[in-house]
Amino acid sequence: MARYTGPVCRLCRREGMKLYLKGQKCYTDKCPFEKRPYAPGQHGMRRTKLTQYAIQLRAKQAMKRIYGVLERQFRRYFEEASRRKGVTGEILVKIVESRLDNVVYRMGFAFSRAQARQLVRHGHVLVNGRKVDIPSYRLKPGDIVEIREKSRSIPFVREAVESAKDRTLPKWLDVDLDNFRGVFSRYPEMDEVDLPIDVQAIVELYSK
Ligand code: SF4
Repeated sequence: MARYTGPVCRLCRREGMKLYLKGQKCYTDKCPFEKRPYAPGQHGMRRTKLTQYAIQLRAKQAMKRIYGVLERQFRRYFEEASRRKGVTGEILVKIVESRLDNVVYRMGFAFSRAQARQLVRHGHVLVNGRKVDIPSYRLKPGDIVEIREKSRSIPFVREAVESAKDRTLPKWLDVDLDNFRGVFSRYPEMDEVDLPIDVQAIVELYSK
């Protein structure tokens, strides 16, 4: 399964925003974006006015990077969203939010989507009682996600769960952190997803 394997903090600097790809480090003063909040490379500090196309392109790249999805798959998600009835941008968000790796992260079992993806790929996650090791697996409302009993002692999982107990988890997920399980109750509404991106710009980009 293809995925980006390059330096991830560079991606935040490229997009000009914190994408929270590194888990705990993103919340500390070790975050490179705090020290160098400009694009990487020789001309990174130059201020240029972005064209409409560049704004749309950056929005798409940022969203792909947040969810850890590569171009081909992201395009497929967009095509599916545009075929379905409703507002394309909202459907696109629902599609990416229902990915198993994203839900494992949102439920608080991992500090980042990358960590959640690793948990899934290594077979530590069950969906409705059965092992699913495909990070892009799409959940349906009512699906139960849990960390396999043997895997609940993994240090970072325990730490992530403890830290999740101190914050408010998404309303569209019904999470029981003490038992390392949760239900994907429903798809999120747009205002329930903390996405610092203009999704409409992505729709306009792909609709050209
Ligand atoms: Fe981005 Fe996190 Fe790296 Fe900061 S630490 S630059 S938020 S991935």
